[in-house]
Amino acid sequence: MNKKNLNNLGMHVLFKALLKFTNQEAELAYMGELENGFYIDIKTNVTISTNDFKKIEKNIKSILTSGDKVEIIDDLPNNNKYYKHMKKNENDIGFVKIGKYESISKFPIADKLSVIKEFKLVNVGGSYWLNDSKNEHLTRISAICFENKLDLAKWEEFVEEQKKRDHRKIGQDMEIFTFNNEIGQGLPIWLPNGQIIKNEIKKFLWSIFTKENFMFIDTPILGSKDLYVRSGHWDHYKENNFPPISIDNETFMLRPMTCPHHINVYNEKPHSYKELPYCLCEDAKLHRYESSGGLIGLERVRAMELFDCHVVTQKEKIEEVIEKLDSILKSVHKKLELKIDRIDLSMHDPKDKEKYHNDSKMWENSEGQLRKILKKLKYKACEMVGEAAFYGPKIDYQIKTNLGKMITISTIQLDFLLPERFDMTFVDENNSKVRPVLIHFGVIGTYERFIASLLSQTKGILPLWLSPIQVTIIPVNNKYHLDYCKKLVSELKENNIRVKLDDSDERLNKKIREAQTSKVPFQIIIGDKEVENQTITYRKYSEENSTTCELKKFICELNKKISA
Ligand code: ZN
Repeated sequence: MNKKNLNNLGMHVLFKALLKFTNQEAELAYMGELENGFYIDIKTNVTISTNDFKKIEKNIKSILTSGDKVEIIDDLPNNNKYYKHMKKNENDIGFVKIGKYESISKFPIADKLSVIKEFKLVNVGGSYWLNDSKNEHLTRISAICFENKLDLAKWEEFVEEQKKRDHRKIGQDMEIFTFNNEIGQGLPIWLPNGQIIKNEIKKFLWSIFTKENFMFIDTPILGSKDLYVRSGHWDHYKENNFPPISIDNETFMLRPMTCPHHINVYNEKPHSYKELPYCLCEDAKLHRYESSGGLIGLERVRAMELFDCHVVTQKEKIEEVIEKLDSILKSVHKKLELKIDRIDLSMHDPKDKEKYHNDSKMWENSEGQLRKILKKLKYKACEMVGEAAFYGPKIDYQIKTNLGKMITISTIQLDFLLPERFDMTFVDENNSKVRPVLIHFGVIGTYERFIASLLSQTKGILPLWLSPIQVTIIPVNNKYHLDYCKKLVSELKENNIRVKLDDSDERLNKKIREAQTSKVPFQIIIGDKEVENQTITYRKYSEENSTTCELKKFICELNKKISA
Protein backbone atom coordinates (compact mmCIF):
# COMPACT_ATOMS: atom_id res chain seq x y z
CA MET A 1 0.00 0.00 0.00
CA ASN A 2 1.21 3.45 -0.93
CA LYS A 3 2.05 5.62 2.09
CA LYS A 4 0.07 8.52 0.66
CA ASN A 5 -3.12 6.45 0.45
CA LEU A 6 -2.66 5.31 4.00
CA ASN A 7 -1.95 8.83 5.31
CA ASN A 8 -4.92 10.35 3.49
CA LEU A 9 -7.23 7.84 5.10
CA GLY A 10 -5.48 8.25 8.47
CA MET A 11 -6.33 11.98 8.47
CA HIS A 12 -10.06 11.19 8.46
CA VAL A 13 -9.81 8.49 11.07
CA LEU A 14 -8.05 11.02 13.29
CA PHE A 15 -10.56 13.78 12.65
CA LYS A 16 -13.49 11.46 13.19
CA ALA A 17 -11.99 10.44 16.53
CA LEU A 18 -11.50 14.10 17.45
CA LEU A 19 -15.14 14.88 16.62
CA LYS A 20 -16.14 12.29 19.18
CA PHE A 21 -13.59 13.61 21.70
CA THR A 22 -14.79 17.22 21.32
CA ASN A 23 -18.50 16.33 21.19
CA GLN A 24 -18.64 17.38 17.53
CA GLU A 25 -17.13 20.78 18.43
CA ALA A 26 -14.42 20.74 15.75
CA GLU A 27 -13.94 21.76 12.15
CA LEU A 28 -11.31 20.32 9.83
CA ALA A 29 -9.28 23.30 8.57
CA TYR A 30 -6.28 21.73 6.86
CA MET A 31 -4.51 18.41 6.21
CA GLY A 32 -0.85 17.89 5.38
CA GLU A 33 1.67 15.10 4.89
CA LEU A 34 4.92 14.94 6.88
CA GLU A 35 8.15 13.07 6.19
CA ASN A 36 6.88 10.57 8.75
CA GLY A 37 3.10 10.55 8.99
CA PHE A 38 0.73 13.50 8.65
CA TYR A 39 -1.04 16.29 10.53
CA ILE A 40 -4.45 17.89 10.60
CA ASP A 41 -5.33 21.42 11.72
CA ILE A 42 -8.67 21.74 13.47
CA LYS A 43 -10.72 24.66 14.70
CA THR A 44 -12.04 23.84 18.17
CA ASN A 45 -12.60 25.49 21.52
CA VAL A 46 -11.72 22.27 23.34
CA THR A 47 -8.17 22.17 24.69
CA ILE A 48 -6.33 19.01 23.64
CA SER A 49 -3.08 17.88 25.28
CA THR A 50 -0.89 14.81 25.07
CA ASN A 51 -2.67 13.60 28.23
CA ASP A 52 -5.75 13.07 26.06
CA PHE A 53 -3.92 10.89 23.53
CA LYS A 54 -4.90 7.59 25.18
CA LYS A 55 -8.57 8.47 25.04
CA ILE A 56 -8.37 9.67 21.42
CA GLU A 57 -6.41 6.57 20.40
CA LYS A 58 -9.21 4.47 21.91
CA ASN A 59 -11.72 6.32 19.71
CA ILE A 60 -9.46 5.65 16.74
CA LYS A 61 -9.37 1.93 17.47
CA SER A 62 -13.15 1.70 17.53
CA ILE A 63 -13.37 3.56 14.18
CA LEU A 64 -10.82 1.23 12.59
CA THR A 65 -12.72 -1.87 13.70
CA SER A 66 -16.21 -0.46 12.98
CA GLY A 67 -16.48 -2.08 9.55
CA ASP A 68 -17.61 1.27 8.07
CA LYS A 69 -17.14 1.54 4.32
CA VAL A 70 -14.95 4.20 2.71
CA GLU A 71 -16.92 5.68 -0.19
CA ILE A 72 -16.02 8.38 -2.65
CA ILE A 73 -18.78 10.99 -3.08
CA ASP A 74 -19.17 13.89 -5.53
CA ASP A 75 -19.44 16.89 -3.24
CA LEU A 76 -20.99 18.14 -0.02
CA PRO A 77 -24.15 20.25 0.20
CA ASN A 78 -22.38 22.76 2.45
CA ASN A 79 -18.69 23.48 2.16
CA ASN A 80 -17.28 25.56 5.04
CA LYS A 81 -14.68 28.29 4.36
CA TYR A 82 -11.78 25.88 4.99
CA TYR A 83 -13.16 23.36 2.49
CA LYS A 84 -13.80 26.10 -0.04
CA HIS A 85 -10.22 27.31 0.29
CA MET A 86 -8.78 23.79 -0.07
CA LYS A 87 -11.01 23.06 -3.03
CA LYS A 88 -9.79 26.17 -4.80
CA ASN A 89 -6.09 25.98 -3.95
CA GLU A 90 -5.10 22.34 -3.51
CA ASN A 91 -4.48 19.60 -6.01
CA ASP A 92 -5.92 16.08 -5.71
CA ILE A 93 -8.95 17.12 -3.68
CA GLY A 94 -12.23 15.17 -3.55
CA PHE A 95 -14.87 14.01 -1.06
CA VAL A 96 -15.28 10.87 1.05
CA LYS A 97 -17.91 9.25 3.22
CA ILE A 98 -16.96 6.92 6.07
CA GLY A 99 -20.09 5.61 7.79
CA LYS A 100 -22.12 8.73 8.46
CA TYR A 101 -19.07 10.98 8.35
CA GLU A 102 -18.60 13.10 5.21
CA SER A 103 -15.62 15.29 4.44
CA ILE A 104 -13.38 16.93 1.89
CA SER A 105 -10.32 14.70 1.35
CA LYS A 106 -6.91 14.44 -0.20
CA PHE A 107 -6.51 11.78 -2.87
CA PRO A 108 -5.49 9.04 -3.52
CA ILE A 109 -6.99 7.41 -0.45
CA ALA A 110 -6.96 3.82 0.87
CA ASP A 111 -10.39 2.25 0.30
CA LYS A 112 -10.72 0.14 3.47
CA LEU A 113 -10.38 1.09 7.14
CA SER A 114 -9.01 -2.36 7.86
CA VAL A 115 -5.74 -1.62 6.02
CA ILE A 116 -4.69 0.54 8.98
CA LYS A 117 -3.51 -1.85 11.67
CA GLU A 118 -1.56 0.52 13.94
CA PHE A 119 -2.13 4.20 14.72
CA LYS A 120 -0.01 6.52 16.89
CA LEU A 121 -0.63 10.13 17.84
CA VAL A 122 2.69 11.98 17.77
CA ASN A 123 2.24 15.58 18.85
CA VAL A 124 -0.21 18.39 19.50
CA GLY A 125 0.49 22.11 19.16
CA GLY A 126 -0.83 25.38 17.79
CA SER A 127 -0.91 26.87 14.31
CA TYR A 128 -2.69 29.60 12.40
CA TRP A 129 -4.95 29.14 9.43
CA LEU A 130 -2.80 29.48 6.28
CA ASN A 131 0.23 29.99 8.57
CA ASP A 132 -0.76 33.63 9.03
CA SER A 133 -0.83 34.92 12.61
CA LYS A 134 -3.57 37.38 11.62
CA ASN A 135 -5.90 34.42 11.06
CA GLU A 136 -7.62 32.33 13.69
CA HIS A 137 -5.68 30.00 15.93
CA LEU A 138 -5.96 26.28 15.18
CA THR A 139 -4.93 23.08 16.93
CA ARG A 140 -2.45 20.95 15.01
CA ILE A 141 -2.26 17.23 15.72
CA SER A 142 0.29 14.99 14.07
CA ALA A 143 0.03 11.22 13.81
CA ILE A 144 1.31 8.23 11.92
CA CYS A 145 -0.33 4.99 10.88
CA PHE A 146 0.96 1.62 9.74
CA GLU A 147 -0.19 -1.47 7.88
CA ASN A 148 1.48 -3.83 10.34
CA LYS A 149 3.19 -4.16 13.71
CA LEU A 150 6.66 -4.52 12.18
CA ASP A 151 6.52 -1.06 10.56
CA LEU A 152 5.37 0.42 13.86
CA ALA A 153 8.30 -1.23 15.66
CA LYS A 154 10.75 0.13 13.06
CA TRP A 155 9.34 3.62 13.48
CA GLU A 156 9.53 3.41 17.28
CA GLU A 157 13.17 2.39 16.99
CA PHE A 158 13.82 5.36 14.68
CA VAL A 159 12.18 7.74 17.18
CA GLU A 160 14.32 6.35 20.01
CA GLU A 161 17.47 6.79 17.92
CA GLN A 162 16.40 10.32 17.03
CA LYS A 163 16.07 11.14 20.74
CA LYS A 164 19.58 9.84 21.44
CA ARG A 165 20.96 11.97 18.62
CA ASP A 166 19.05 15.15 19.47
CA HIS A 167 21.81 17.75 19.74
CA ARG A 168 19.61 19.90 22.04
CA LYS A 169 19.46 17.15 24.65
CA ILE A 170 23.13 16.21 24.26
CA GLY A 171 24.15 19.87 24.43
CA GLN A 172 22.19 20.34 27.62
CA ASP A 173 23.51 17.15 29.28
CA MET A 174 27.10 18.06 28.44
CA GLU A 175 26.60 21.76 29.29
CA ILE A 176 27.75 22.88 25.86
CA PHE A 177 25.26 25.64 25.07
CA THR A 178 22.04 27.17 26.30
CA PHE A 179 19.35 29.69 25.38
CA ASN A 180 17.89 32.26 27.69
CA ASN A 181 14.56 33.94 27.05
CA GLU A 182 15.59 37.08 28.87
CA ILE A 183 18.57 37.45 26.53
CA GLY A 184 16.41 36.61 23.54
CA GLN A 185 15.05 33.76 21.46
CA GLY A 186 17.35 32.05 19.01
CA LEU A 187 20.50 33.67 20.43
CA PRO A 188 22.84 30.85 21.47
CA ILE A 189 25.01 31.13 24.55
CA TRP A 190 28.15 29.02 24.50
CA LEU A 191 28.90 27.62 27.94
CA PRO A 192 32.53 26.93 28.99
CA ASN A 193 32.46 23.38 27.56
CA GLY A 194 31.07 24.59 24.23
CA GLN A 195 33.58 27.39 24.06
CA ILE A 196 36.39 24.82 24.40
CA ILE A 197 35.02 22.83 21.46
CA LYS A 198 34.67 25.98 19.38
CA ASN A 199 38.16 27.20 20.25
CA GLU A 200 39.76 23.85 19.46
CA ILE A 201 38.16 23.89 16.00
CA LYS A 202 39.28 27.51 15.54
CA LYS A 203 42.87 26.70 16.53
CA PHE A 204 42.91 23.84 14.05
CA LEU A 205 41.48 25.98 11.22
CA TRP A 206 43.84 28.81 12.08
CA SER A 207 46.89 26.53 11.76
CA ILE A 208 45.79 25.05 8.42
CA PHE A 209 44.68 28.34 6.85
CA THR A 210 47.76 30.26 7.94
CA LYS A 211 49.91 27.62 6.27
CA GLU A 212 47.82 27.98 3.12
CA ASN A 213 48.46 31.76 2.96
CA PHE A 214 45.04 32.90 4.13
CA MET A 215 45.04 36.20 6.03
CA PHE A 216 42.79 36.45 9.09
CA ILE A 217 40.83 39.66 9.54
CA ASP A 218 38.06 40.92 11.79
CA THR A 219 35.28 43.14 10.43
CA PRO A 220 32.25 44.73 12.18
CA ILE A 221 28.98 42.93 12.76
CA LEU A 222 27.12 45.98 11.45
CA GLY A 223 27.31 47.28 7.92
CA SER A 224 25.79 50.17 6.06
CA LYS A 225 22.54 49.20 4.37
CA ASP A 226 23.86 50.66 1.08
CA LEU A 227 26.66 48.10 1.14
CA TYR A 228 24.13 45.30 1.10
CA VAL A 229 21.95 46.99 -1.49
CA ARG A 230 25.01 47.19 -3.74
CA SER A 231 25.97 43.55 -3.20
CA GLY A 232 22.41 42.37 -3.79
CA HIS A 233 22.11 40.65 -0.39
CA TRP A 234 19.49 43.22 0.65
CA ASP A 235 17.16 42.17 -2.13
CA HIS A 236 17.89 38.47 -2.15
CA TYR A 237 17.73 37.80 1.58
CA LYS A 238 15.13 40.40 2.51
CA GLU A 239 13.04 38.12 4.68
CA ASN A 240 16.11 36.97 6.63
CA ASN A 241 17.46 40.46 7.42
CA PHE A 242 16.78 42.17 10.73
CA PRO A 243 15.18 45.58 10.16
CA PRO A 244 17.67 48.39 9.46
CA ILE A 245 18.83 50.75 12.24
CA SER A 246 18.75 54.44 11.31
CA ILE A 247 20.86 56.91 13.28
CA ASP A 248 22.62 60.24 12.47
CA ASN A 249 21.65 60.17 8.79
CA GLU A 250 23.13 56.72 8.36
CA THR A 251 21.32 53.40 8.01
CA PHE A 252 22.98 50.26 9.29
CA MET A 253 22.03 46.65 9.36
CA LEU A 254 23.16 43.62 11.30
CA ARG A 255 25.17 41.89 8.65
CA PRO A 256 23.71 38.66 7.32
CA MET A 257 26.88 37.91 5.28
CA THR A 258 30.57 38.85 5.21
CA CYS A 259 31.25 39.00 1.47
CA PRO A 260 30.89 42.78 0.91
CA HIS A 261 33.06 43.50 3.96
CA HIS A 262 35.86 41.35 2.56
CA ILE A 263 35.47 42.87 -0.89
CA ASN A 264 35.96 46.32 0.63
CA VAL A 265 39.05 45.15 2.48
CA TYR A 266 40.45 44.00 -0.88
CA ASN A 267 39.48 47.30 -2.49
CA GLU A 268 41.33 49.30 0.19
CA LYS A 269 44.40 49.47 -2.03
CA PRO A 270 45.48 48.52 -5.57
CA HIS A 271 46.73 44.98 -6.13
CA SER A 272 49.21 43.42 -8.48
CA TYR A 273 48.79 40.01 -10.11
CA LYS A 274 51.72 38.96 -7.91
CA GLU A 275 49.52 39.17 -4.81
CA LEU A 276 46.95 36.77 -6.24
CA PRO A 277 45.36 34.55 -5.16
CA TYR A 278 44.46 36.99 -2.40
CA CYS A 279 42.92 34.97 0.43
CA LEU A 280 40.97 36.40 3.36
CA CYS A 281 39.21 34.64 6.17
CA GLU A 282 37.32 35.55 9.30
CA ASP A 283 35.37 34.04 12.15
CA ALA A 284 32.42 36.25 11.37
CA LYS A 285 29.48 36.92 13.67
CA LEU A 286 26.29 37.12 11.60
CA HIS A 287 22.64 37.77 12.35
CA ARG A 288 19.72 36.46 10.37
CA TYR A 289 16.06 36.68 11.16
CA GLU A 290 14.21 33.39 11.62
CA SER A 291 10.59 33.23 12.74
CA SER A 292 10.33 32.04 16.34
CA GLY A 293 8.53 28.91 15.12
CA GLY A 294 11.46 28.09 12.83
CA LEU A 295 14.14 28.13 15.54
CA ILE A 296 15.67 24.69 16.25
CA GLY A 297 18.42 24.47 18.91
CA LEU A 298 21.76 25.35 17.36
CA GLU A 299 20.56 24.20 13.96
CA ARG A 300 18.46 27.30 13.24
CA VAL A 301 19.44 30.40 15.18
CA ARG A 302 19.32 34.17 14.84
CA ALA A 303 22.96 34.83 15.79
CA MET A 304 25.77 32.71 14.44
CA GLU A 305 29.48 32.58 13.75
CA LEU A 306 30.63 31.59 10.29
CA PHE A 307 34.17 30.66 9.34
CA ASP A 308 34.06 32.59 6.09
CA CYS A 309 36.76 32.74 3.42
CA HIS A 310 37.08 34.65 0.15
CA VAL A 311 39.68 34.21 -2.54
CA VAL A 312 40.32 36.81 -5.24
CA THR A 313 42.13 35.43 -8.26
CA GLN A 314 42.69 35.69 -12.01
CA LYS A 315 40.05 34.12 -14.25
CA GLU A 316 42.76 31.92 -15.80
CA LYS A 317 43.65 30.49 -12.40
CA ILE A 318 40.19 29.31 -11.33
CA GLU A 319 40.98 25.66 -11.91
CA GLU A 320 44.28 25.77 -10.04
CA VAL A 321 42.77 27.64 -7.06
CA ILE A 322 39.72 25.41 -6.75
CA GLU A 323 41.89 22.29 -6.82
CA LYS A 324 43.90 23.79 -3.96
CA LEU A 325 40.72 24.63 -1.98
CA ASP A 326 39.48 21.10 -2.54
CA SER A 327 42.70 19.68 -1.11
CA ILE A 328 42.37 21.96 1.94
CA LEU A 329 38.83 20.66 2.42
CA LYS A 330 40.05 17.08 2.23
CA SER A 331 42.44 17.62 5.13
CA VAL A 332 39.82 19.47 7.20
CA HIS A 333 37.25 16.74 6.61
CA LYS A 334 39.79 14.09 7.58
CA LYS A 335 40.70 15.72 10.89
CA LEU A 336 37.04 16.38 11.74
CA GLU A 337 36.18 12.79 10.78
CA LEU A 338 33.59 13.94 8.24
CA LYS A 339 32.62 11.61 5.43
CA ILE A 340 31.35 13.46 2.37
CA ASP A 341 28.37 11.57 0.97
CA ARG A 342 27.68 13.56 -2.16
CA ILE A 343 29.13 16.36 -4.22
CA ASP A 344 26.66 18.69 -5.93
CA LEU A 345 27.19 21.09 -8.77
CA SER A 346 24.60 23.69 -7.82
CA MET A 347 23.47 25.50 -10.94
CA HIS A 348 21.11 28.37 -11.72
CA ASP A 349 17.59 27.95 -13.03
CA PRO A 350 17.31 29.84 -16.33
CA LYS A 351 13.55 30.18 -15.74
CA ASP A 352 14.00 31.94 -12.40
CA LYS A 353 14.74 35.47 -13.63
CA GLU A 354 13.94 36.96 -10.23
CA LYS A 355 16.55 35.06 -8.22
CA TYR A 356 19.32 34.79 -10.78
CA HIS A 357 21.34 37.55 -12.31
CA ASN A 358 20.34 37.66 -15.98
CA ASP A 359 23.52 36.90 -17.92
CA SER A 360 23.27 33.54 -19.63
CA LYS A 361 26.83 33.73 -20.97
CA MET A 362 28.24 34.23 -17.47
CA TRP A 363 26.27 31.25 -16.16
CA GLU A 364 27.19 29.01 -19.06
CA ASN A 365 30.86 29.83 -18.67
CA SER A 366 31.06 29.51 -14.88
CA GLU A 367 28.98 26.34 -14.68
CA GLY A 368 31.03 24.83 -17.51
CA GLN A 369 34.25 25.57 -15.67
CA LEU A 370 33.06 23.97 -12.44
CA ARG A 371 31.85 20.91 -14.35
CA LYS A 372 35.28 20.53 -15.92
CA ILE A 373 37.06 20.87 -12.57
CA LEU A 374 34.78 18.31 -10.91
CA LYS A 375 35.55 15.88 -13.70
CA LYS A 376 39.28 16.44 -13.25
CA LEU A 377 38.94 15.88 -9.51
CA LYS A 378 37.14 12.62 -10.37
CA TYR A 379 33.98 13.55 -8.50
CA LYS A 380 30.70 12.15 -9.77
CA ALA A 381 28.71 15.28 -9.07
CA CYS A 382 24.92 15.62 -9.01
CA GLU A 383 23.85 18.59 -11.09
CA MET A 384 21.23 20.51 -9.13
CA VAL A 385 19.28 23.11 -11.11
CA GLY A 386 18.05 26.09 -9.07
CA GLU A 387 20.50 25.55 -6.20
CA ALA A 388 23.14 28.15 -7.19
CA ALA A 389 23.72 31.37 -5.24
CA PHE A 390 22.26 34.48 -6.89
CA TYR A 391 25.77 35.50 -8.00
CA GLY A 392 27.10 32.21 -9.30
CA PRO A 393 27.27 28.39 -9.33
CA LYS A 394 28.84 26.36 -6.56
CA ILE A 395 30.33 23.03 -5.61
CA ASP A 396 28.57 21.79 -2.48
CA TYR A 397 30.02 19.07 -0.26
CA GLN A 398 27.07 17.25 1.27
CA ILE A 399 26.91 14.95 4.25
CA LYS A 400 24.03 12.73 5.19
CA THR A 401 23.04 13.14 8.81
CA ASN A 402 22.23 10.06 10.86
CA LEU A 403 18.59 10.86 10.36
CA GLY A 404 18.97 10.71 6.60
CA LYS A 405 18.91 14.46 5.88
CA MET A 406 21.45 15.88 3.39
CA ILE A 407 23.19 19.05 4.54
CA THR A 408 25.88 21.18 2.91
CA ILE A 409 29.00 21.18 5.05
CA SER A 410 31.46 22.88 2.70
CA THR A 411 31.05 25.00 -0.40
CA ILE A 412 33.14 26.58 -3.16
CA GLN A 413 31.28 29.32 -5.03
CA LEU A 414 32.34 31.00 -8.23
CA ASP A 415 31.35 34.66 -8.54
CA PHE A 416 31.81 36.97 -11.54
CA LEU A 417 29.01 39.30 -10.47
CA LEU A 418 30.22 40.94 -7.23
CA PRO A 419 33.66 41.82 -8.71
CA GLU A 420 31.67 43.82 -11.34
CA ARG A 421 29.34 45.44 -8.82
CA PHE A 422 32.22 46.48 -6.55
CA ASP A 423 34.60 47.31 -9.38
CA MET A 424 37.34 44.99 -8.12
CA THR A 425 40.55 45.09 -10.15
CA PHE A 426 44.21 44.08 -10.21
CA VAL A 427 47.12 45.10 -12.39
CA ASP A 428 48.36 42.31 -14.68
CA GLU A 429 51.79 41.55 -16.23
CA ASN A 430 51.17 44.14 -18.97
CA ASN A 431 50.35 46.82 -16.46
CA SER A 432 46.69 46.93 -17.39
CA LYS A 433 43.76 46.89 -15.00
CA VAL A 434 41.90 43.57 -15.06
CA ARG A 435 38.75 42.27 -13.39
CA PRO A 436 39.42 39.29 -11.06
CA VAL A 437 37.00 36.55 -10.05
CA LEU A 438 35.80 36.10 -6.47
CA ILE A 439 35.57 32.65 -4.90
CA HIS A 440 33.44 32.32 -1.77
CA PHE A 441 34.77 29.45 0.30
CA GLY A 442 32.81 27.87 3.16
CA VAL A 443 34.70 25.22 5.10
CA ILE A 444 32.50 24.01 7.95
CA GLY A 445 29.64 26.51 7.70
CA THR A 446 28.64 28.13 10.98
CA TYR A 447 30.05 26.81 14.26
CA GLU A 448 26.46 26.51 15.49
CA ARG A 449 25.23 24.19 12.78
CA PHE A 450 28.51 22.32 12.58
CA ILE A 451 28.62 21.55 16.30
CA ALA A 452 24.92 20.62 16.25
CA SER A 453 25.61 18.01 13.60
CA LEU A 454 28.83 16.89 15.32
CA LEU A 455 26.89 16.24 18.54
CA SER A 456 24.18 14.40 16.67
CA GLN A 457 26.60 12.28 14.59
CA THR A 458 28.74 11.31 17.59
CA LYS A 459 25.91 11.20 20.17
CA GLY A 460 28.21 13.48 22.16
CA ILE A 461 31.13 11.05 22.21
CA LEU A 462 33.52 13.58 20.72
CA PRO A 463 36.99 12.86 19.39
CA LEU A 464 39.57 13.26 22.15
CA TRP A 465 41.02 16.55 20.85
CA LEU A 466 37.56 18.19 20.95
CA SER A 467 36.37 16.82 24.29
CA PRO A 468 35.84 19.67 26.75
CA ILE A 469 37.06 17.39 29.54
CA GLN A 470 39.49 14.71 28.41
CA VAL A 471 40.15 12.99 31.72
CA THR A 472 38.21 12.66 34.98
CA ILE A 473 40.12 11.64 38.09
CA ILE A 474 38.15 9.82 40.75
CA PRO A 475 39.64 9.06 44.18
CA VAL A 476 38.26 5.87 45.75
CA ASN A 477 38.38 7.60 49.12
CA ASN A 478 38.85 11.36 49.48
CA LYS A 479 40.48 10.96 52.87
CA TYR A 480 43.35 8.77 51.69
CA HIS A 481 43.72 9.44 47.97
CA LEU A 482 42.90 13.08 47.33
CA ASP A 483 46.40 14.48 47.74
CA TYR A 484 47.85 12.10 45.17
CA CYS A 485 44.94 12.92 42.80
CA LYS A 486 45.66 16.63 43.12
CA LYS A 487 49.26 15.99 42.13
CA LEU A 488 48.05 14.08 39.05
CA VAL A 489 45.73 16.95 38.10
CA SER A 490 48.52 19.50 38.09
CA GLU A 491 50.80 17.24 36.07
CA LEU A 492 48.10 16.61 33.48
CA LYS A 493 47.34 20.34 33.27
CA GLU A 494 51.04 21.00 32.87
CA ASN A 495 50.84 18.79 29.77
CA ASN A 496 47.81 20.67 28.34
CA ILE A 497 45.34 17.90 29.11
CA ARG A 498 41.88 19.08 30.14
CA VAL A 499 41.19 17.32 33.42
CA LYS A 500 38.52 17.34 36.10
CA LEU A 501 38.91 16.05 39.64
CA ASP A 502 35.77 14.56 41.11
CA ASP A 503 36.28 15.11 44.84
CA SER A 504 32.56 15.13 45.66
CA ASP A 505 31.35 13.04 48.57
CA GLU A 506 29.22 10.83 46.34
CA ARG A 507 29.66 7.06 46.33
CA LEU A 508 32.37 5.72 44.02
CA ASN A 509 29.89 3.93 41.74
CA LYS A 510 27.87 7.08 41.30
CA LYS A 511 30.98 9.08 40.36
CA ILE A 512 31.96 6.47 37.78
CA ARG A 513 28.45 6.48 36.34
CA GLU A 514 28.46 10.25 36.15
CA ALA A 515 31.77 10.30 34.27
CA GLN A 516 30.18 7.84 31.82
CA THR A 517 27.08 9.94 31.15
CA SER A 518 29.13 13.08 30.66
CA LYS A 519 31.02 11.13 27.97
CA VAL A 520 34.51 11.96 29.23
CA PRO A 521 36.95 9.91 27.11
CA PHE A 522 39.15 8.71 30.03
CA GLN A 523 38.52 7.97 33.70
CA ILE A 524 41.38 7.58 36.13
CA ILE A 525 40.54 5.80 39.37
CA ILE A 526 42.94 6.12 42.28
CA GLY A 527 42.96 3.74 45.26
CA ASP A 528 45.51 2.42 47.78
CA LYS A 529 47.50 0.44 45.22
CA GLU A 530 47.97 3.38 42.88
CA VAL A 531 49.09 5.68 45.69
CA GLU A 532 51.47 3.07 47.00
CA ASN A 533 53.02 2.30 43.58
CA GLN A 534 52.73 5.86 42.23
CA THR A 535 50.73 4.63 39.23
CA ILE A 536 47.30 5.27 37.77
CA THR A 537 44.49 2.98 36.69
CA TYR A 538 42.49 4.28 33.73
CA ARG A 539 39.58 3.19 31.67
CA LYS A 540 38.55 4.40 28.26
CA TYR A 541 34.94 5.55 27.75
CA SER A 542 32.59 2.64 26.95
CA GLU A 543 35.31 0.01 27.51
CA GLU A 544 35.21 -2.57 30.29
CA ASN A 545 38.94 -3.20 30.73
CA SER A 546 41.17 -0.92 32.73
CA THR A 547 44.92 -0.39 32.47
CA THR A 548 47.44 0.39 35.20
CA CYS A 549 50.57 2.31 34.25
CA GLU A 550 52.72 5.29 35.11
CA LEU A 551 51.22 8.72 34.51
CA LYS A 552 54.02 9.63 32.10
CA LYS A 553 53.14 6.75 29.79
CA PHE A 554 49.45 7.68 29.87
CA ILE A 555 50.20 11.32 28.99
CA CYS A 556 52.42 10.21 26.13
CA GLU A 557 49.68 8.03 24.66
CA LEU A 558 47.08 10.72 25.10
CA ASN A 559 49.17 13.32 23.31
CA LYS A 560 49.78 10.93 20.45
CA LYS A 561 46.01 10.46 20.06
CA ILE A 562 45.30 14.20 20.32
CA SER A 563 47.75 15.20 17.62
CA ALA A 564 46.81 12.35 15.25
ZN1 ZN B 1 30.92 35.23 0.41
